[in-house]
Order: sequence, then structure tokens, then C-alpha cells
Amino acid sequence: MKRKALAILALAMVVIACQPKEKEKDHDKAIEDTYRQALKVLASDDFMGRKPFTKGEELTVSYLQQQFEALGIEPGNGDSYFQDVPLVDITTKLQDDKVKVEGKKGKLELHSLEDIVVGTKRVVEKQEVKAAPVVFAGFGINAPEYDWNDYKDLDVKGKVVVVMVNDPGFYNPDLFRGKNMTYYGRWTYKYEEAARQGAAGVLIIHATAPASYGWGVVRSSWGGSNLYLQTENDNADAVAMEGWISGEAAKKLFDLAGADLDKSIEKAKKPGFKGQDLNLKLSATLNNKLDKKTSRNVVAMLPGTDLKDEYVIYSAHWDHFGVGEPVKGDSIYNGAADNASGTAGLLTLAKMFKEAPQTKRSIVFLSVTGEEQGLLGSEYYTKHPIFPIKNTVADINMDVLQPFGKMKDIFLIGKGQSNIDQYLEKVAQEQDRKVLEPEDQSNGWYYRSDHFNFAKVGIPTLYIANGEESIEHGKEWGAKQLEDYNTHRYHKPQDEYSDNWDVSGTMWDLELIFKTGTNLANTDAFPTWNEGVMYKKIREESRRK
Ligand SMILES: [Zn+2]
Repeated sequence: MKRKALAILALAMVVIACQPKEKEKDHDKAIEDTYRQALKVLASDDFMGRKPFTKGEELTVSYLQQQFEALGIEPGNGDSYFQDVPLVDITTKLQDDKVKVEGKKGKLELHSLEDIVVGTKRVVEKQEVKAAPVVFAGFGINAPEYDWNDYKDLDVKGKVVVVMVNDPGFYNPDLFRGKNMTYYGRWTYKYEEAARQGAAGVLIIHATAPASYGWGVVRSSWGGSNLYLQTENDNADAVAMEGWISGEAAKKLFDLAGADLDKSIEKAKKPGFKGQDLNLKLSATLNNKLDKKTSRNVVAMLPGTDLKDEYVIYSAHWDHFGVGEPVKGDSIYNGAADNASGTAGLLTLAKMFKEAPQTKRSIVFLSVTGEEQGLLGSEYYTKHPIFPIKNTVADINMDVLQPFGKMKDIFLIGKGQSNIDQYLEKVAQEQDRKVLEPEDQSNGWYYRSDHFNFAKVGIPTLYIANGEESIEHGKEWGAKQLEDYNTHRYHKPQDEYSDNWDVSGTMWDLELIFKTGTNLANTDAFPTWNEGVMYKKIREESRRK
């Protein structure tokens, strides 16, 4: 062969060798562009923080529909991409902006937002709490399986109960599940249980460590209006007044009662605690503005082949807080990480599945509303499922995909509850990554996003969160990024997108859950809950139907 021919051949070989790689690179770039573009749009000021019922919702759900259409993904609800979710928006204004408390030692006024936040689920225009006795009920927990009942021998009918956040395990590793918070530690549980006990109201004493967030988060979540699912009885079975009281204000409340807050709390942490009547009378008038409206879940579907009546669901909430109280001069709660990121991830996964070989089972892309106001869209979906619960193989949920680059590890929230973990672990191993459970689960993470509603009806779930061991910068750096986010941006207008975001780690995480979902969609096995997990029985019953 002549030298020139040899050179051409060598060049040709290089070109051929490079082609698949180049193609792969282009493909990766296209995937990343899809993600970044969607993220940028959803987190932009134009979308005004994506609050349900606002122009922001209109823009968001239309955008999602357009994107699914453009990707060639079918509507998931008959010929519609939407599932209506009837909600009621309740804006509570405390009369005179305060709650009044009277005791033998005098009077106390608790000021709205500074000292106290209150609301109600009851769909009524005016709700009064008139001179209701105040009772301290420890954690407000009634848990027979842990032999713990803060309401034992305590009559709280028509009274306002003051309770602590989290559960006894937060303070004592031998109680409950130690730092791993049970559902009894969640604020939602506190209100549900107090309602079962017939209480008129509940105030949760705020403390940053056991709540896992500061008072600022409480006041921004409760400062404006709150959304609830519409029900037939207009939520008449809920307590008349729900709320939080700041640590300092609680101290004043106990002082007025001639009690010592710290001592009372210490007592309540120990088994055998007895509730304490504070001999105070609390009055509040809640004036409510009611707005019954319909929000929307967005749902798209890619049909499978031979097992197309079985479904793997990917979920991500599209909503955030909209426009609210300004922080550092900014009033738009963009929710870039929370959860424009997961929503953009959903669209990106749709593109990945569309371009990949068709799976046996169908893939559902579900973007739910009202997560920030209590996981409402997913609750509605699981109570009014479009695809039968029994044939739903799994829910893979995305809520906050962080832009901190590639991590050696990945957190699986609620790890160890079902054998779905192994599907994730297998792919993680291929990526040479470890699947870990966060050490500290005292914040009750598992109960704080939409997958929890799927677990409640028995569907095994995967809910991943950013790892913390950065490949480039190490573990300490990674942990610091997470802490920074929690302190400075979480649920604040500062959760904003920037073109400087390093999304390489997110791309890796999306690939991880894409392959995991693909494997789940190509088997005929159903993942099962482990022995002793409360959802196991629910699943077995639902599968039998
Ligand atoms: Zn979220």
C-alpha cells in the first residue's frame, strides 16, 4: 500500500473508531440540553414560582403538555395530559393579627408570623376558638406498637393541645426507631391525631433541630394561603385550628401558666409522661378567604409491549410557593432545585425512554401538583388512580436534583424496606457508586415527598437524593453544599437557577434511575416489601383483588 493510501486508511479507522463515541457525546449533549432548557424555563421569573391556581400553573402545565407532545409521548389520561385535582385554597387571617391567651397571672398576645402561625383545613369562612383550655400533650403521639400514648387519661375535647415536633426516638435511641423518624414525628400526624382525640386546636412548638428547619421556613410556608384537597364533608373532621408556635413564644406561654417549658419538655421525652393542663384560655378568630378551584396533575405515558397493562411510574411535583414574602428583596420563590429540577428530569427521562428500545411494561410520567402544601396532587392521584394500583409496579420519585457535580454515592431515602432497592443497587454498581441511607433521618424525609402516598397504597417506591461524596472535591465539600442549600436556599426565593450549575451529577443520577426503571419495566416480577414493613400487607391485599 502506498503511504498516502495508508494514511487515508488510518484516518478512516480513526473516524470509524470515533464515530460511536462522537455520537454518544452528541446524544449526551442533547440529553443535557433538554434538561437544562426545561429547568431554565420552569425556574424562570416568568413562571412566577409555579403556584397552583395562578398564572404560574397555567404556564407550567401547558409547557409540560407541549414538551410531552413534542417528544411524541402519549397523553396519560385518555386523550388528555391532565388529571383535574379539586382543591380549596384557604387564606386565613387572624383577627387583630393575634391569638389571645389568658391565665391567672395575666394576659399574653401571640402575634401572627412573629410568634405563631395558624390555619385551618375546615372549609368555612369564619372559625372561632373561644377561651379554649390549653393542654400540653408531649409529642401528641398515640402509638400502641411502641407502647406510647401521650393522650392517655387526658381529655382534650374542645381544647387546644400544645405538642412537640418529632418523636421520642430523636432524643433517645432506645425509643421508637431512634433518630430514624417515624410517621408519628411528622407535623401532619400531630394534626390528624389531635382531630381523632376531639381537640379544637393544635400548636406545635417549633425547635430547629427536631423540626430540621428554622422558624423562617414555618412562617413562609404558612404566611400566605394554604391548599387542601376538597372533600365531601368540607374537612369538618379536622381540628378547627392548626398551627405552630415559636420556641420563644412557647416559653412565654408556659411562663404565663407558671410552668417551665424546658422542664416540661424533658418530662415529655420519657415514657410514662402525663399530659399537663396549663390552666390557660386561648382565643382566636380565623377569618378565611375560600377559593375552590381545580389544579392539575400532568400525566403522559409510553405504552409497553407484552406487559403494557403494567406500569412503572416516574413522578415529580411541578408546584412551588409562587410569589410570597420577600427575602433579601426577592419575592419570587422560583424553586429551581425544588422542584423545577425533578420536573425537568421527568421530561428528560421521557426523551430517554422515547429514544430507547420499547420496554415490556408501560412507563408513566406523572407531574403532580400541590406537593409543597401537603403532597396533595399525589394523594389525589393515589385515591383516584388512572392506572390500577395493583398493576403499578413502582413509583420512582424525583424531588430536588442538586447541581453539585458527580457523587460517588447516592442516597436512597427509605432504604431497606423493599427489594426494589436491589434494582437500584445493581445499576449503581455498574456506575461504581454506593447506594447509602442518610445517617440522619430525623427529619422524616421519607414522609416528605410524593412517593409516600404511593407507599401508603402499597406501591414500592424509590426516592433518591443527592449523594455527598463529591468525586472532584470530596465528602466534606459535598456535605457542605447540602448544608448550604438547606440553610440559604431551601424554600426561599434564593432557590434559583444559574447557567453555572454543574448538572453532570444530575445526568448521572438520571441515567441511574432510567436504567433502573428500564429493568423494572422489562421483568415480569413485582418488587415486594420486606417483612415487618407496614405497607406489605396493603400491597398483598391490593395485588389479590
Ligand atoms: Zn419538593
